[in-house]
Formats: sequence, structure tokens, C-alpha cells
Amino acid sequence: MRFGISISRTFALHANYYMEDFLKQLPKLAKDKHNENKKYFAKLKKKPPKDLDYVMQELHEEEFERTDCLTCANCCKTTGPLFTNADIARIAKHFKMKEQKFIETYLRVDEENDHVLQSVPCTFLDAENYCMIYEVRPKACREYPHTDRKKFQQISNLTLKNVSICPAAFNIVEEMKKRIPK
Ligand code: SF4
Ligand code: SF4
Repeated sequence: MRFGISISRTFALHANYYMEDFLKQLPKLAKDKHNENKKYFAKLKKKPPKDLDYVMQELHEEEFERTDCLTCANCCKTTGPLFTNADIARIAKHFKMKEQKFIETYLRVDEENDHVLQSVPCTFLDAENYCMIYEVRPKACREYPHTDRKKFQQISNLTLKNVSICPAAFNIVEEMKKRIPK
């Protein structure tokens, strides 16, 4: 999860309904766009525009001014981050736990030999969609959905996956296709 903003209660209710609906439709919306997106990213990879980093930064910021992660938390509910050694050391320290104990309590090793959560939704997500370890959360959570990543064309496979999980990533890619037609 990237971050949350404070909004009024009435607006928050509307935003929640809107997001709930969007999240229900998202898998199908993303599936319908999959081939189009795949072709688009293949072309983008061959000839990325010089100002791609700049445009992505702008699209990312514009989208996250509209999207409040606190109404969503779909990334935290459906996919977990990778935990790097630095993440484990930082979070274990936050809990005043030994690193090994933290690993045994919360993590497992996946097929690619990475430390990941034992289960989703993430144990550190509270009932209000707040991250209980926000200040020390894993790097992958801080950077998700990676739409402001430099050389964005290099993570197209990840983005193709993320548009079916993250409404913001979906919107950013749709806007990107308009802003940088191929
Ligand atoms: S899925 Fe995207 S919009 Fe939803 S909480 Fe995660 S980063 Fe925010
Ligand atoms: S650590 Fe926090 S931001 Fe990361 S998946 Fe868990 S609740 Fe979400």
C-alpha cells in the first residue's frame, strides 16, 4: 500500500462505495485489457520515449491525488510483499523481536526462495485498512504499485499483473496509453 490521505466522513463513504464497486469489476476489466496492454508494453519497450520517467511520475502523482489507498488496501489483502533482509531486520527491531523469531512467526520461504507472508490478508493490516507497521513497512510496500519507477518499460510483466490488483495502476496504465500513444 502506498499511503492514505484524510478525507471527510461523507466523502469517505462515497469513496468507499465507489472503490468497492471498482474492485469487484477490476479482474474482468484487467482481463479485457490484457492483450491490448501486452501489445502496448511490447511496443513501449522497443522505443520508450525520452521523457517516460517524467510522464510516469506525473501520471502516478495525479492518480494518487484521486485514489485513497485507505478505501482499498487490495494489495495488502490479496498479495503480500517480499521481505528483504533489511526489511526483516528493521521490522523485527520495531517489534523488539529476534529476526529469526520474526521470520518463524510471520514469514515463509516461497518457491523463489524469497521471504513472504505466511498468509494474506497481511497480518499487519488493521480493520480500518491502516498498516500497523507503516513507518517500517517493507520496501516493496512503499514502492507498490511501482508506477513511478524509473525505466517503467522494464517492469511491464509486473505491471500487467498489478493492473488486475491495483485500481490505481489500472487507471495509470489507461491514462498512459492516452498520453503516450503507440
Ligand atoms: S491496491 Fe493500489 S490503490 Fe489499492 S491500496 Fe494498494 S496501492 Fe493503493
Ligand atoms: S506490511 Fe503494511 S503495507 Fe505491507 S502488505 Fe502489510 S499491511 Fe500492507
